[in-house]
Amino acid sequence: MSNTEKRPAELVHAGSDLPERSIEILTSREVPLGGPRAMTVRRTLPQRARTLVGAWCFADHYGPDDVALTGGMRVAPHPHTGLQTVSWLFSGEIEHRDSLGNHALIRPGELNLMTGGFGICHSEVSTERTTSLHGVQLWVALPEANRHTARDFRHHVPGVVPLDGGEVRVFLGSLAGDTSPVPTFTPLLGAEISLEPGATLRLPVQEEFEHGVIVDSGRVSLNGTPLDAAELGFAAAGLTTLTLANASPRRARVVLLGGTPFREEIVMWWNFIGRTHEDIVRAREDWQSRSDRFGRVEGYDGERLPAPALPNATIAPRRNPSF
Ligand code: MN
Repeated sequence: MSNTEKRPAELVHAGSDLPERSIEILTSREVPLGGPRAMTVRRTLPQRARTLVGAWCFADHYGPDDVALTGGMRVAPHPHTGLQTVSWLFSGEIEHRDSLGNHALIRPGELNLMTGGFGICHSEVSTERTTSLHGVQLWVALPEANRHTARDFRHHVPGVVPLDGGEVRVFLGSLAGDTSPVPTFTPLLGAEISLEPGATLRLPVQEEFEHGVIVDSGRVSLNGTPLDAAELGFAAAGLTTLTLANASPRRARVVLLGGTPFREEIVMWWNFIGRTHEDIVRAREDWQSRSDRFGRVEGYDGERLPAPALPNATIAPRRNPSF
């Protein structure tokens, strides 16, 4: 997915006065993805109060969208650097093409992890047979030591772990006795969790991880704090158990993200992550000049996305509050 925010460099630093162990609620904002019948996504990361959860630095939640009304997803070839992308669907199907030559179908319940590293480009188009599009698009910031790594693409279909009161699909990291075989550059967790009506799940988690719970459906509470759909409940590091409860009379679904706190400052602009304004300027120039850095997408019917104009001001780095 390509970031289409008009002012993607917006940065306001905000601290948190909340007690260490309380759950912080991050509400989403609606962002149009662009195009004549633009799909709208609900973005919870990054935002003023929080840039990252672990190394997760971007979280868009969308749908269920009737593709007949929204036109579905059609994102022309665009670049990424310094990050990985995760496409995780609940329904629908997206055709992915990238400059490694991958042509993959992204389907519900299947992890597709693309590593931008130094540079990659890709296109994403919902398929003709998709009637409803519903899922999340997530980015992972790469640490300094690995942010120039080679581009890569991994596919993994996690098994379904049955629990008393729900089920879990672990796409990255470890939870509920299952471990994803897909390697990460920093310790990470990513899982889809569904809860039966009225169910409570107590999930042992790694104490050094911070966690974010994005609610897709249902009335779910995280450690006693109720969350609304599309909200992200944040739990700071130091917990050994997450308690998820579904107060609704129908099934609930959440996406759980986690990881060790990412302590580097990052500069995010459009589809790039760097460490300095100059990193961003260089990446933009390399994309606009069609350098080999990002490669080429073969087979996409249409033009690639041009980069937006840079802001006049120096793009400020972002970091989390309260290290
Ligand atoms: Mn993308």
